[in-house]
Amino acid sequence: MRPIQDAFPLLQTPKKIFITTHHKPDGDAIGSMLGLCHYLTKKGHHVSAVSPGDIPDFLSWMPGVDIMMNYESTLTEVLKVLSDCDLIFGVDFNGFGRTKHLTTALAEAKQPKILIDHHLMPEQVWDYGMSIPEKSSTAEMVYDFINMNNDNALIDKDIAACLYTGVMTDTGSFRFPITSASVHEMVADLKHKGLDHSLIHDEVYDSWTLGRMRFLGYVLVDRMEIFPKYNAGLISLTRKEMNLFNVRNGDTEGLVNYPLSISGVRFATLITERSDEVKLSFRSKGDFDVSAFAREYFDGGGHFNASGGRSKTSFIETVAYFKKILSDIHPR
Ligand code: 5GP
Ligand code: MN
Repeated sequence: MRPIQDAFPLLQTPKKIFITTHHKPDGDAIGSMLGLCHYLTKKGHHVSAVSPGDIPDFLSWMPGVDIMMNYESTLTEVLKVLSDCDLIFGVDFNGFGRTKHLTTALAEAKQPKILIDHHLMPEQVWDYGMSIPEKSSTAEMVYDFINMNNDNALIDKDIAACLYTGVMTDTGSFRFPITSASVHEMVADLKHKGLDHSLIHDEVYDSWTLGRMRFLGYVLVDRMEIFPKYNAGLISLTRKEMNLFNVRNGDTEGLVNYPLSISGVRFATLITERSDEVKLSFRSKGDFDVSAFAREYFDGGGHFNASGGRSKTSFIETVAYFKKILSDIHPR
């Protein structure tokens, strides 16, 4: 992969640009994608921002959601846009498999592919890019990318809102150790550009339905297990119980963090039964590398302190297998 600066000449003339992100997109995925989309559009390009599927309700207010395409519902149309484009950007993921239904199409696409991402271990499939795991969020990297192009003045209120949402959600509202001075400097700059941060916190964190709140109560009382010997916590949820509570897209967001608020817990896992697989989310504090853990045992990856994976065995088998390895690895 060549440095992203080598791709700047390609952006000197108007291009048809396709941007996409990972499956089950989160605040950073959509925030960095739409922030980049608004910026490149202002630069005179024709940009298509393509989400891999429905986005969680707490992101539905974001500027640009209305023009975003969704390839779960319109795959044929999306494939046409992809084949017609001049350039491809991938943000907040680093291997085509993370896009699910676009995996093959991206692998076969002949256009230059540019990566902006902060996950560990990028696949060697990108022509240009920046891959910096020390960065708080891909949104922060899009901000850097805009500045590298000397275009800070183009950052407006919409771009600021998108980038802020990405960095806010990926840093746990600026509390994770990865939150550097430059993150706060960027936010100060976004404030100067009209950012309404309080409104964004309301939209993202205070927009729960009563049902979601009741579901959280149920999860914490009935579905959270703590293993003091291993400094670990586990929440596991079947499809049946999620259906019972009418759990919607995004309603399980953040659940995995709750065990970490218990004194002594340094490793938290959420196991959810999905229609096609069992999904696992891992979070840690300190020096337990959950990205390596996800790669080794659950066909996944991610960051040192936040990762995800999947299992093709049944929900019950997955939970049992997880508990078995927990006693083998003894996280501290
Ligand atoms: P989540 O638990 O929110 O699904 O994922 C946590 C973090 O790990 C996110 O940054 C997500 O993009 C990343 N992640 C989740 N699953 C995978 C995976 O299978 N492979 C890789 N490389 N990263 C993942
Ligand atoms: Mn991210």
